[in-house]
Amino acid sequence: MKYEPVIGLEVHVQLKTASKIFCSCSTEFGREPNLNTCPVCMGLPGSLPVLNRRAVDLAISAALALDCRISPFFKFDRKNYFYPDLPKAYQISQYDLPLATGGRLEISANGSSRNIDIERIHMEEDAGKLVHAEPGHGVPKGTSFVDYNRAGTPLIEIVSRPDLRSPAEAHAYLDALKHILRYLDVSDCNMEEGSLRCDANVSIRPAGETALGTRSELKNLNSFKFVEKAIEIEIERQTEVLESGGRVIQETRGYDSAKNTTHPQRSKEQAHDYRYFPEPDLPGFTVTPDQIERFRSALPELPAARRRRFQTKLGLPAYDAEVLTAESDTADYFEKVVGLGADPKKTSNFIMTELLFNLKTAGLPAGRSPVTPARLAELLKLQADGKISGKIAKDIFPAMFEKGVSAQEVLKDQKIELIADAGSLDEPIRQVISENPKAIEDLRAGKLTVLGFLVGQVMKKTRGQADPKIVPQELKKRLGI
Ligand SMILES: [Zn+2]
Repeated sequence: MKYEPVIGLEVHVQLKTASKIFCSCSTEFGREPNLNTCPVCMGLPGSLPVLNRRAVDLAISAALALDCRISPFFKFDRKNYFYPDLPKAYQISQYDLPLATGGRLEISANGSSRNIDIERIHMEEDAGKLVHAEPGHGVPKGTSFVDYNRAGTPLIEIVSRPDLRSPAEAHAYLDALKHILRYLDVSDCNMEEGSLRCDANVSIRPAGETALGTRSELKNLNSFKFVEKAIEIEIERQTEVLESGGRVIQETRGYDSAKNTTHPQRSKEQAHDYRYFPEPDLPGFTVTPDQIERFRSALPELPAARRRRFQTKLGLPAYDAEVLTAESDTADYFEKVVGLGADPKKTSNFIMTELLFNLKTAGLPAGRSPVTPARLAELLKLQADGKISGKIAKDIFPAMFEKGVSAQEVLKDQKIELIADAGSLDEPIRQVISENPKAIEDLRAGKLTVLGFLVGQVMKKTRGQADPKIVPQELKKRLGI
């Protein structure tokens, strides 16, 4: 029997705020354990939460960019469970009235693109972190420490509909989501630092069936590659279970990246296990249509729209548009250079081959490139005006990048002369003609293949500074052919 995988993703994204969601503690990563804490995020009796306005603003921007409907009224609820990393023994989350519902995200996988529906986006606080001690150092075996620096960090949970049909689509969904959230500067989506985390709900069903099969929820997926691999291995496991006459049970499973296997962790809780009830210490919140409009009009142009504009208005191929819009910094840089009069395709080529390579090596974003957009525009203009060849442009770029200087400065420094005009080729061409009588004779006799050789000779005499596009024309002109 052929089975169809059904995948839904729950993605937790840390919002890029300076302080936590219900108190003023810092969200700075990597500080000494329990330094970023106060009575509110430690859940001490008598302390009261206050909602961080900035967190709501960022969450609304993200929800609008994902085409969600913002709830005119939303509230918070307590999700109760006991675990040492949760100081209050409940997490402030949202249950029946989340911030936003019903959006979609365009993904491209396997050469085609389609929309994946988003069910809801809700806000919640993060829990702390357990640090399991290494044996030794006077610490008894089996000791764990708790670091509450993360407790109370603002998160949004973005829940997709079970619309994804392959591990590759799940990967593409995460790529697209990360792309948009980074564009909006809502989150840095750094998986290593835990600012983006993903759980995957996976089930399979006979192809053609519309009812959903029993799902398992995969946890501990700490890279996009592992998300893809874990789903792949889980689909294989469920297929084997069904084919051997068994049935899949609803449970939470962990992924072991070293063994590339999933293993049961616990049977999956139902919502009622959490005894959700409204958070009595926070009021409900209203969002007016005016406010929503203000947020909507403040949204930047999103990657998909920008990609389309680069293709339709600037005539770039799809591939170029994709590469340039991968980071907003790169797209901004490109637009600045083109805004200074450079040809879009030539600029795109130069950015993709020279600039991005140098930036990557230096570990810099385009916004901090030592070669400013103005300097790249100047370099491309020298080339467009025929004053330097394309080869020279590429040759001097690393020096411009490394020293942070203009093209003119590098040319002067390296004693490369500008090709003033075709007239400056007079002398080298005259020499080449007098030194190669046999080749000239062949050329006059119609043997055009020797032209390449003669052009090479002229290039050599000009130390590669002549424009290889002009040289053959000038040669022929002087020979009267
Ligand atoms: Zn605090």
